[in-house]
Amino acid sequence: MNILIIEDEIKTARYIKTGLSENGFFVDTSDNGYEGLELVKSNNYDLIILDVMLPGKDGWTILKELRDKGKLMPVIFLTAKDTVLDKVKGLELGADDYLIKPFAFSELLARIRALLRRGKTIQPDKIEIADLTIDLLRQTAHRNGRFLNLTKKEFMLLSLFALHKGEVLSRTLIAEQIWNINFITDTNIIDVAVRRLRQKLDDPYDKKLIRTVRGVGYILEDR
Ligand code: CA
Repeated sequence: MNILIIEDEIKTARYIKTGLSENGFFVDTSDNGYEGLELVKSNNYDLIILDVMLPGKDGWTILKELRDKGKLMPVIFLTAKDTVLDKVKGLELGADDYLIKPFAFSELLARIRALLRRGKTIQPDKIEIADLTIDLLRQTAHRNGRFLNLTKKEFMLLSLFALHKGEVLSRTLIAEQIWNINFITDTNIIDVAVRRLRQKLDDPYDKKLIRTVRGVGYILEDR
């Protein structure tokens, strides 16, 4: 699931991005209206989180332009304004939901899940791959019925792999999604983390789920 956040308050954008990444979403951010709209046009996002007051183009304009272009992904407005007039205007322009700042991350996540479910692009609560079961709500993982004692980062890493099973994930992408690092100079941090995860996930079992793709990254699959 790819989500775009268009929000000029860096702290808010970062807060949302971190939370969504921890929940297995791929997240892009933009801090202005022009760039945000360009990103929407050139990528396939499953959902957009859109601030109303933005430099460049405001949220209303962005929403109108993307609907005019036939982009129908769900849009959640973030707004400090909570007047009835704003709500009516947003709904007329085709927003799917609203959150009034400040909001709890759990509330945003619940709204996102509801919208994505409505759109039939379901973010699952549970993922099963071979004898591995991951419960994304409880944040637990089991193999062959046995509890895997994972750290928070290890669980995030496993969830990222599982949500993209069968896809090769590059070290750069992993660094961005799990550590929020955009440019990695040392990929060792990723390799060490994957090795630790493998010690718990794969080493005790005959069937190995994580595979190294040389020169690229890693893949989790049921082979
Ligand atoms: Ca703003």
